[in-house]
Amino acid sequence: MASYAALRTIAWSVYGVGLMAMHAFGGESPGVDGARMQEVQPTTYRFGRFMLDCSRRTLLSESGARPLPEKVFQILMLLLEANGATVAKQTFLRRIWPEGYVSEGNLTQQIFLLRGFLGESLNRNEYILTVAGGGYRFAKTIESKRGLSMKDACERCMATLSSQDLAMICSYECTFCVKCAYGMNSTCPNCGGELTKRPRRRR
Ligand SMILES: [Zn+2]
Ligand SMILES: [Zn+2]
Repeated sequence: MASYAALRTIAWSVYGVGLMAMHAFGGESPGVDGARMQEVQPTTYRFGRFMLDCSRRTLLSESGARPLPEKVFQILMLLLEANGATVAKQTFLRRIWPEGYVSEGNLTQQIFLLRGFLGESLNRNEYILTVAGGGYRFAKTIESKRGLSMKDACERCMATLSSQDLAMICSYECTFCVKCAYGMNSTCPNCGGELTKRPRRRR
């Protein structure tokens, strides 16, 4: 009897540890982290001839819009957030490969890809500098700003509004479809301000 009880206790504690591990994993999931990051991030960074739309993870320039692969985007974000300060190789490895199965070669490869997106060649690194002693830093002046939030529905009738649709906004970005705005005499019901055409996003 005693041994049965002991076994049961062990079984329960193993089960408990299992639950705890799952919980810890859930807390560290990239989804949760990503959502938290987006709240504090400015929507857009500008540097040199590029603009990075963080919400869409897209690099914009005269030559078009290019969505960045996940790791490339994360590396660029770390460099931009450091605002010109050196980011150590270890920091990249820890933040971008939290699961740990990574070598410096992976990082070098992703930096190479990023440099490609920024149009850098082997002997001309205009944007990303390799720092002696192990790290990288951003060499361009970085401007960060919040663009229009481009809400995706009318606040009154809930009609879907894509970033290419015409929408009406007030200075606080309360957002309405054209029909609702017209019905309200182009006056925002929330702030009393004027409703005007929201610029459409083309790409
Ligand atoms: Zn509406
Ligand atoms: Zn308003």
